[in-house]
Amino acid sequence: MRKLNFKALSVLMLLAAACATNPLTGRQSLSLISNAQLFPQSFSQYSQVLKDNKVDKTSDNAKKVNNVGQRIKYAAEKFFTEIGRADELKGYEWEFSLIQSEQLNAWCMPGGKVAFYSGILPVCQNEAGIAVVMGHEVAHALAGHSAEQVSNAMVAQGLLVGGNVAISNSEWRNVFNQLYPVGAGLTMLKYGRGMELDADEAGLYLMAMAGYPPQEAINFWQRMEKATAGQQTPPEFLSTHPNPGNRVEQIKKIMPQAMKYYNQSPYKEK
Ligand SMILES: [Zn+2]
Repeated sequence: MRKLNFKALSVLMLLAAACATNPLTGRQSLSLISNAQLFPQSFSQYSQVLKDNKVDKTSDNAKKVNNVGQRIKYAAEKFFTEIGRADELKGYEWEFSLIQSEQLNAWCMPGGKVAFYSGILPVCQNEAGIAVVMGHEVAHALAGHSAEQVSNAMVAQGLLVGGNVAISNSEWRNVFNQLYPVGAGLTMLKYGRGMELDADEAGLYLMAMAGYPPQEAINFWQRMEKATAGQQTPPEFLSTHPNPGNRVEQIKKIMPQAMKYYNQSPYKEK
């Protein structure tokens, strides 16, 4: 009897450990990969992307992107500390790079490795616009959406045996590399629709916590809709959304909560 209980408890513990909760939205996700496993892969791929592209380190725009990134980072760290989950940010090596490219794109890899493409800056228009994109992309990382994708892919590929994780390092590295192929790939990366809505919500809260007026998100998405009308390959954050109207509707619904965070933010410009 005692043995059975112990076994049941072990299974429960495994399931609990395999589930992550986004503290900003409450959304739950499957997580079979730890940050310690994921980050080294992410960091080495990020270095490669920086080597393969022209990185702007000195212009005013590069400084703006970095400044917005730092504010979002501080806000995230403050929030995670206040709710007693600061441990989850251990191992992050935040970096905010501006890549010279006409692409309308931006992304954040696990562990806080952010890239903006200069082509998106005219749509952002100002720092609040940059914060909309930064909040959304950083939210994907904080919510562990990459770990969720890798976990889902592991399940789909039958890499779990009897509810237990039976996967070698090289096996999950293969799964990771399929999801993040260098060169052809990062800009084609797609999250599921649920993850996109989650990142929109968490991203709006993050920009507000960082002291950027969240109403700017509505103006930004309207500009983005115009800028990408008729494009064959929309950027990552548009690709899995059925229509931008729904996106703005969701943002309006959660605006009161975002305004609370904004009004309490210590980072607002005076
Ligand atoms: Zn996204």
